[in-house]
Amino acid sequence: MSDFPALMPVYNRVDLYAERGDGAYLFDDKGRRYLDFVAGMAVVGLGHCHPQIVAALKKQADILWTASNIFKTHSGERLAQRLVDLSFADTVFFQNSGAEAWECGVKTIRKYFSAIGQPQRFRIISFQGCFHGRTMTAIAASKAEKMVGGFGPLIDGFDLVAWEDIAAVRAAVTDATAGIVFEPVIGEGGMKVASPEFLKQLRALCDEKGLLLFFDEVQCGMGRTGKLFAYEESGVTPDVMCIAKALGNGFPIGACLATAKAAQGMTKGTHGSTYGGNPQATEIGIAVLDVMTAKGFLDDVARKGYYLRSVLEKIAAAHPKIFSGLRGRGLMQGLVCVPSNSAVVTALREEGLLAVEAGDNVVRLLPPLIITDAQIDEASAIIDLAAKKLEALL
Ligand SMILES: *Cc1c(COP(=O)(O)O)cnc(C)c1O
Repeated sequence: MSDFPALMPVYNRVDLYAERGDGAYLFDDKGRRYLDFVAGMAVVGLGHCHPQIVAALKKQADILWTASNIFKTHSGERLAQRLVDLSFADTVFFQNSGAEAWECGVKTIRKYFSAIGQPQRFRIISFQGCFHGRTMTAIAASKAEKMVGGFGPLIDGFDLVAWEDIAAVRAAVTDATAGIVFEPVIGEGGMKVASPEFLKQLRALCDEKGLLLFFDEVQCGMGRTGKLFAYEESGVTPDVMCIAKALGNGFPIGACLATAKAAQGMTKGTHGSTYGGNPQATEIGIAVLDVMTAKGFLDDVARKGYYLRSVLEKIAAAHPKIFSGLRGRGLMQGLVCVPSNSAVVTALREEGLLAVEAGDNVVRLLPPLIITDAQIDEASAIIDLAAKKLEALL
């Protein structure tokens, strides 16, 4: 017997029991309705219980849940082909989560250098403030004390450099460097948007030194920025990329995408996953892509991103004692806070808007991509009201 909670208390959970979702709204167990700008942490891109996604899940539930990756499925091959057609990649491996997809990317990079006879090149350069998940490898790449404390010894092979500092990246490259891993838009770390110039500099450095460029688009990919993938904005393509979150709209699926060259070490027997790419997940992934690639969908996301930004700019300007800046791209915006971001998140929730903290004292706003202009206005009124209430307390 013990007082230790049955659910391991690794999260500082909000006292809100999530009961039901409908589009951009989340309902708690008391029936209170919230406008949901957490969206399952940028997962529920198409909103809660999107009819096309629910239909895909229900249909597949009566057909086949899983068969094992020792067999082929038409659904898995179809989703892989769709992602190949829509991206820089030649090949895709499905996993169950973002961290797993990221890990597959790390393995792909290390295996590439082993396959080309340079196994001494295994180190990967990562960036301060990065977040790649909670596996041992992913925390070793971020080196953030909050994530690594007590979990050592850490996996070796990651060299941390200052964010968006090309001189620091260049200085960190050694004969042992294999690749560079980068989030084109930093999510957890504070909603920072890398300039297209920096991505071009990273690509040029990788080409010069023979390194593989690895983008983590687990959060910023799948339509969030108004493009299917955030890298499209820069014209720069990576060699390896991981995606997850909105790919399954809440059903667990992640994917590692790579060029044929980068994936040349990933041959039969080198990697695997029991559930990864099961037909339920892949049917949902196909349905998500059907919606996101429909004519005009992503253009409208981009337009709404500009609208949200213009609204937030006005609010931030009107409340300088609460907000000191605005960051982000598309429907991935962050308000930099003057009081603690958690106080702002609480104030927003009390007024009916769910948002979440990010690094650098930022409040993250991640509305579902199906958000309407009227709902953006509704959120804007709530933020304005919450800011006024916080000002009254100063
Ligand atoms: C959420 C996230 C991950 C980890 O994904 P999980 O599904 O939680 O393992 C990795 N990278 C980025 C950029 C993320 O935002």
